[in-house]
Amino acid sequence: MHYEHILIRYGELALKKKNRGDFEKVLVKNIKKALQAYPKAQVIRTYGRLYIALNGEPYQEIEGKLEKIFGIHSFSPTRLLQSFNLEEIQQAALEVIKDVDPMPRTFKVQTKRPNKQFPHRSMDMNHLVGGFILKNTEELKVDVHNPDVVMQVEIRQDGVFLSCKTVAGNGGLPVGTGGKAMLMLSGGIDSPVAGWMTMKRGVRIEGVHFHSYPFTSEQAKQKVIDLAGILSEYSGSMKLHIVPFTEIQTKIREFCPESYTITIMRRFMMRISEKLAEKHGALAIATGESLGQVASQTMESMYTINHVIQTPMIRPLIAMDKTEIVNISKKIGTYETSILPYEDCCTIFVPKSPVTRPKLEIAEKAEAKLDVENLVNWAVENTESIWIEPQQIEEEFDLFN
Ligand code: ATP
Ligand code: MG
Repeated sequence: MHYEHILIRYGELALKKKNRGDFEKVLVKNIKKALQAYPKAQVIRTYGRLYIALNGEPYQEIEGKLEKIFGIHSFSPTRLLQSFNLEEIQQAALEVIKDVDPMPRTFKVQTKRPNKQFPHRSMDMNHLVGGFILKNTEELKVDVHNPDVVMQVEIRQDGVFLSCKTVAGNGGLPVGTGGKAMLMLSGGIDSPVAGWMTMKRGVRIEGVHFHSYPFTSEQAKQKVIDLAGILSEYSGSMKLHIVPFTEIQTKIREFCPESYTITIMRRFMMRISEKLAEKHGALAIATGESLGQVASQTMESMYTINHVIQTPMIRPLIAMDKTEIVNISKKIGTYETSILPYEDCCTIFVPKSPVTRPKLEIAEKAEAKLDVENLVNWAVENTESIWIEPQQIEEEFDLFN
């Protein structure tokens, strides 16, 4: 049997009434965008329920898309009957439960009846449908406490919804309900995860990548574009700003003490990200920093680096262990790309002995020889901004074969 409808459950319990309308509107928009390649699929919102009418579009593929959309708590492939005829409901319920793979041994029926015009009460329906299923199957038994499968019957104004399977969604809030942040996106493992977690709270992100051609290769840049492509599957699409960073790095190496080059380089990244945030209407900057993970991520280092800007920082990974971060990156699909070997601009300029506890006054003195303002402005003006659309990973691999 193939399903013609998908019932979508959404909303965090704590969501305020006032925000609910916006939340739903944005969620519907994001779902429509994610299903653009399936023009016959319709997103329908009625009587406080959100569902998709597939109209022949493939369920499996659409399931994969829905699993990525933030704001969806769970969803179910659903049989929708436009009829309120008891026998038809019983027959359809039987078909739906027979379709469960692997075949369950126990089940129970759970009826909800918001449509009070329907003549049979919920308790009665549980028996009427359950009894019919029992009579027409061989092995199935009822278990009300711990069944393999719950047959959900919802009798609503617009029809009867029957479903047995619940697929967990990503949760969170729909991207676009929480403002915008710039994500400092390197080619590493951490920053894509940080971006995903920021998006999960409903925040739209634009990537900022510092590129030091020819010290770093075209492949390093392509890797970041690919990572943005994977992230954009969760958000619909995203902008990526590629900042020319060679000049600044060269100047730092020429004029600043070696042990402070990383600190100063990061101070430049902050200033430029803040300018880009202002230019593009973002109110925060997100990074993949995790306290204590590497030398430049000590408290003192963050203080000295952060001191050059005012914009609030989002550091979703700050308290996480590397293994937790790696697990998320595998789950969201960025890991395999992140571990490709191409160097990013930081690995190339690693000093022999970077300071682990850089002092603010020393950093300020150390960069005194540089024309900070002009260097920053030039980099911002020469930043290349590109739109990234969700990519089909399979197609990508084909290119390499
Ligand atoms: P990641 O795995 O995200 O590269 P990391 O563990 O390598 O992080 P650092 O190199 O200290 O850590 O970088 C800290 C953060 O600074 C990164 O998570 C990222 O947000 C930002 N960052 C580092 N390099 C770049 C870059 N070339 N372009 C943009 N952002 C960067
Ligand atoms: Mg890195």
